[in-house]
Amino acid sequence: MAKDPVATADLYERAASDRLGFWGDMARENVDWDTEFTQVLDDADAPFYRWFADGRLNACVNAVDRHVAAGLGDRVAFHFVGEPGDTAAMTYGDLHVQVQRAANAIEALGIGAGDRVVLYVPNLLESVVAMLACARIGAPHSLVFSGFSSEALRTRIDDAKARLVITADGANRRGAPAALKPAVDAALAGGSTSVEHVLVIRRTGGDVEMVEGRDVWWDEALAAAPASHEAQPFESEQPLFILYTSGTTGTPKGILHTTGGYLTHVAATARHVFDARPETDVFWCAADVGWVTGHSYIVYGPLLNAMTSVLYEGTPNTPDESRFWQVVETLGVTILYTAPTTIRMFMKWGEQIPQGHDLSSLRLLGSVGESINPEAWRWYHRVIGGGRCPIVDTWWQTETGGMMVSALPGLTTLKPGSAQVPQPGIAVEVVDDEGNPLTGDTTGYLVLTEPWPGMLRGIWGDDERYRKTYWSRFPGRYFAGDGAKRDADGDIWLLGRVDDVMNVSGHRISTTEVESALVSHPVVAEAAVVGAADETTGQGIVAFVILRAEALQGTQDLDALPRQLRSHVAEHISPIAKPRSVLVVEELPKTRSGKIMRRLLRDIAEDREVGDVSTLADSSVMDKISAGMSAAPPED
Ligand code: ATP
Ligand code: MG
Repeated sequence: MAKDPVATADLYERAASDRLGFWGDMARENVDWDTEFTQVLDDADAPFYRWFADGRLNACVNAVDRHVAAGLGDRVAFHFVGEPGDTAAMTYGDLHVQVQRAANAIEALGIGAGDRVVLYVPNLLESVVAMLACARIGAPHSLVFSGFSSEALRTRIDDAKARLVITADGANRRGAPAALKPAVDAALAGGSTSVEHVLVIRRTGGDVEMVEGRDVWWDEALAAAPASHEAQPFESEQPLFILYTSGTTGTPKGILHTTGGYLTHVAATARHVFDARPETDVFWCAADVGWVTGHSYIVYGPLLNAMTSVLYEGTPNTPDESRFWQVVETLGVTILYTAPTTIRMFMKWGEQIPQGHDLSSLRLLGSVGESINPEAWRWYHRVIGGGRCPIVDTWWQTETGGMMVSALPGLTTLKPGSAQVPQPGIAVEVVDDEGNPLTGDTTGYLVLTEPWPGMLRGIWGDDERYRKTYWSRFPGRYFAGDGAKRDADGDIWLLGRVDDVMNVSGHRISTTEVESALVSHPVVAEAAVVGAADETTGQGIVAFVILRAEALQGTQDLDALPRQLRSHVAEHISPIAKPRSVLVVEELPKTRSGKIMRRLLRDIAEDREVGDVSTLADSSVMDKISAGMSAAPPED
């Protein structure tokens, strides 16, 4: 990096000497308050913490209006890239006009502060406008990923008791329009007790059935609405959104986030971790607005920093596998933030694809969603980053609201595969089974020992589940559900979900470590491992691997491969970690946000009926894997 980093080393010192004072400063530096807060943290009713509680502010004004007032109306907020190739640039000035019209249109449908609005929308400019318009009037939004079924949508609408649903006629997916509105109709069929109106964004065109008295076209409602809307300030703890977790481990939880603390956290982390330079950066968070990554780092974090972002509607292989690199080249993207699953897909497709493009505008790369295997890290660094871009591996959750553990570019010496250090103001510990803090080089459970501003304020409608899920395993501390290792330098390595940890002959073995060992073999693009019940060892490791395209074209002897991979793991980790069996598969079961669902693989490995697949992206994957499993020859 040519320039001094935006985040400076003294941030760590400031936060360490006065954590709450530091967050108070962050709240004042990153957010405009209509009424200043007098207290940073109110912990009287822990674990129901309140941040900046007597302050008042408006989230939308912070994301949009104040930048226009500061003369930045002509700066591009979003470069939209549609899947069919259509593009549009929306300035902060345009966004300002749209959010005011949308706020008026939504209010005209009878929605006010506190009413929940479900958004079932793809990555469109209108989706961002709708989120901000809800925030402007104090109506919490709840996005449901547009790939979910009508049933999943219905459960979430019912749980949130939404009064309004905002959707689109359809989305462009893999080269063809896919209807969305019929799923909303199906979700509301038989009568929803709470939903009164449906606002429909026009995207794909074609016939749409509109229910008289209930359904309204978005563009018509906005055109009819007044162009100016006076925003009211809300309490800092005004609910901003409810977002259901991805459901990797079980039933999704409705995670509640509020305003002042959340905005402070995402603004500060976006600025520090992405080394934000709003005048010159073109930032691309290649996530879906329907996930927390989209909320915090497509919408709120970048907008609070007045950044210019890319908003991409489609998938990485439409119209072909070079789509991402065309976008980077054409728009001059400087920062790219994506998930390890996507990086491994790029590896599988081969490095000649990105190499056909000029990626020299990139200066910083980010990763989120799972641990990034060291091999994938090195590939990302070399092939995409040209060996010059730092990589920030950011550990966080829907529940944490924003990034928690990550390097700060220019300040932290990078280490492939490690998420590294807690952000300034964030306190983590690695503890043992009894909750004793472990010191030095060690392995255990990751806990957060102090509340933080972006933290969830609860599980919607279920205070008891909130206490039980996060605060009961280690009383007084937040249990993240992930295993972690701390190395001799003090860097944190995430080891996978605690529920997935394998126990072989009394040795606890991390899924992440075995998977990374497999991925470090030149023929393996992706791997998932699970512990399956074993009479002699307690659990035996069963591995599922996807091979790289390049390897398959070569002379690889596929019959010998499982044996080779087993010894490869034995050499890399230890003979204890050697998989009992290795199965080559074409696909792995993943949630719609791209996370491997190991519990389903465990069902297969233990020859059980496969459990709840409702959050799975493609349920036929499980049948294919089961068929392959029974056809596989036994291994020694
Ligand atoms: P559910 O809680 O419903 O099972 P989920 O945990 O997949 O779903 P998210 O909140 O989207 O829902 O994901 C957070 C989890 O993702 C973390 O707890 C962790 O397991 C994993 N994760 C995210 N980022 C990283 C990272 N950089 N390194 C390692 N793991 C990560
Ligand atoms: Mg989770």
